[in-house]
Amino acid sequence: IFVSFEGGDGCGKTTQSTLLGEWLAQALGTEVNLTREPGGTPLGREIRQLLLHGDDMGSRAEALLYAADRSHHIDTVVRPALDRGEVVVTDRYIDSSVAYQGGGRELTPTQVRGLSLWATEGLMPHLTVLLDISPEAGAARFTDAPDRLERSGDEFHRRTRQTYLDMAADEPARWIVVDAHGTIEDIAREVRTRATQCLSA
Ligand code: C5P
Ligand code: MG
Repeated sequence: IFVSFEGGDGCGKTTQSTLLGEWLAQALGTEVNLTREPGGTPLGREIRQLLLHGDDMGSRAEALLYAADRSHHIDTVVRPALDRGEVVVTDRYIDSSVAYQGGGRELTPTQVRGLSLWATEGLMPHLTVLLDISPEAGAARFTDAPDRLERSGDEFHRRTRQTYLDMAADEPARWIVVDAHGTIEDIAREVRTRATQCLSA
């Protein structure tokens, strides 16, 4: 089983993907691999460093670096785990690129999706959890100074959020949308219930 968590900055993806992963490990009694993009591999951590703290770059260069990170992550972490019959829960995947580079940076979303599908040889999650949050509420949760990308501005984050909601509406069998403005415990419960329904359907 391959599960991705998506959503705007500050929505709680890292916290909630960890909680669902730990719960699935208990419930299913199988190995659960918790991972992330960008930066789920040693090479990916170098790419992440370039993306978050490197020189400014064009939108296409940015999209290609995310795709390179993703391709290597799939080859070395995700597919091997799925081939062993294990569960993979990733904090961000292909839909992040469609939302941020496609919607946010205004590259064509279908082209950005095509690039990632090429990079991953078409590997899609069984389930994608969208933690939906307003850009204002997300920004209020930042504890560290914002990175280069988090400073992209309100309009950018509004376009990103809308692109996520449009994707979820277009493909309801893969997506669950959870309001991420509540408490950690309430959101975790909602994710667990809805994820269980979706995975057993
Ligand atoms: O989710 P995480 O904090 O690891 O993301 C790191 C940064 O990369 C965030 O600022 C996020 O907005 C940005 N990002 C992006 N495009 C993606 C994935 C993440 O701009 N495809
Ligand atoms: Mg962040």
